[in-house]
Amino acid sequence: MGDSKKIVIIGGGITGLSAAFYLDKLAEVSGTKHQITVLEQSDQLGGKIQTIRKDGFVIEKGPDSFLSRKLPAYELAKELGIEGELVGTNPAAKKTYILHKGRFHRMPQGLNLGIPTEISPFATTGLISPAGKLRALMDIVLPKKQEDKDESLGHFLHRRLGKEVLERVAEPLLAGIYAGDTYKLSLKATFPQFRQMEQRHRSLILGMKASMAKAGQTENLPDIVKQSRFLSFRNGLQTLVDHLVADLQKNDIQLLTKTKVQSVTHAGPSPDGVKKSPFQVILDGGESIPADSIILALPTKAISNLLSSTFPMAEELEKIQYVSVANVIMTFNREDIQHSLDGSGFVVPRKEKTSITACTWTSSKWGHTAPDGKVVIRCYVGRSGDEEIAAEDDDVIIARVQKDLENLMGIKATPLFYAVNRWPNSMPQYPVGHLELVEKVRKELSAYMPGVYMVGAGFGGVGVPDCIRQGKGAAQQAYAHLLK
Ligand code: FAD
Repeated sequence: MGDSKKIVIIGGGITGLSAAFYLDKLAEVSGTKHQITVLEQSDQLGGKIQTIRKDGFVIEKGPDSFLSRKLPAYELAKELGIEGELVGTNPAAKKTYILHKGRFHRMPQGLNLGIPTEISPFATTGLISPAGKLRALMDIVLPKKQEDKDESLGHFLHRRLGKEVLERVAEPLLAGIYAGDTYKLSLKATFPQFRQMEQRHRSLILGMKASMAKAGQTENLPDIVKQSRFLSFRNGLQTLVDHLVADLQKNDIQLLTKTKVQSVTHAGPSPDGVKKSPFQVILDGGESIPADSIILALPTKAISNLLSSTFPMAEELEKIQYVSVANVIMTFNREDIQHSLDGSGFVVPRKEKTSITACTWTSSKWGHTAPDGKVVIRCYVGRSGDEEIAAEDDDVIIARVQKDLENLMGIKATPLFYAVNRWPNSMPQYPVGHLELVEKVRKELSAYMPGVYMVGAGFGGVGVPDCIRQGKGAAQQAYAHLLK
């Protein structure tokens, strides 16, 4: 990079902050000059990652943890020097329950991502009828699908394991991650490993068993990653954001909150012939910022709006819908709850008539979240096809959740305090053909506006580690572009 270049990152969620962090590291290692600016419309950085610390409770409004084996999050924590702050789930809270006909059933052992891998616990579970179990085991002999075209996650699981396992086990576990409808989610974009398992092993069950055996060979993984499937930080996930922000500030990265971007355009020819930055970032107030490269780390709808006057294909991004969800956090005195809370919580298949779609017994699953003698429970409401509840008043949401908790767990106590966290249009639903759509739009964008990149939860994975990976990838691309 010859002279100082201006890189503007729009969106101060985990994707945008990770992009800024890795850009800064790349520039530092190569001794190049750069000017990195992060623009965030709200008054705080971190996007969906928000922790409330109150009366000794550590409460997450958005994500509460990340998958440990998706290493970008662990690696970022290490680079920030905070890997010592990482905590795993409580080993005593291994059980997860699934609601079936109004009763809790323990999720059969050996179930991985909803796929049975041990015959005996699956054969004895009351969740699935004998015919449903036989149908699922037919996966072992059914031929693989030959054509490589994308299909929905629901169609795939139905085809391999049958309707019962799909509806009663796999759907509530897997679609919960997306608050989605499995019949509308792209297999290749959500669980590509399932497709690969079918291709390599013919059977999903045999493929999952083989993949678990391989995952058992863990010598090279850090201990904490081996010990817990999910990780968080003892002071909450916001620890990651706080340290990222501190690192960026220390390195003079410009972090502007309350700065909404209205559009992104080509700068146009320079009247005086002086070479200038190729792009302009126009802020809500009309001010414009020049940029040599731009990373759009935003929901796809926001990107489509920003580029609408410059990049005709942006409207293709509108095909990626977002679902609205909410969650309710309730805290109690332990003695006021009769339930044993002997697990991590429960998930609810669509057929059950409850408002709650899933419930985490947070203080059982995560030791750091509540002081001694107190309990935290987090209930989720809203999913694809059933989103209205997420927009109701607090009182309505609380009343429905409390009714469910009383019916299902016998909880009648009044919470010490509660919080309703609404997340409108927050969960991207990757449609069938999502990967091809993203590739097409990105290719066109790179021809139209070389040096502008689109990343984040709406594109290449919704999990926190996926977002960090994408932010890092965009940083590498932007950096390489500016070297040209
Ligand atoms: P965001 O966090 O949405 O950040 C985008 C930022 O862009 C926002 O701060 C927004 O204000 C800003 N912005 C938007 N428009 C503009 C504009 N015009 N100008 C400037 N700024 C703008 N993942 C996990 O791994 N584990 C979990 O347990 C988990 N649980 C979740 C629970 C909930 C309730 C939700 C909603 C998500 C959960 N996720 C979880 C997913 C994960 O939290 C998100 O996918 C991830 O945080 C998204 O990061 P991002 O940076 O891509 O987007």
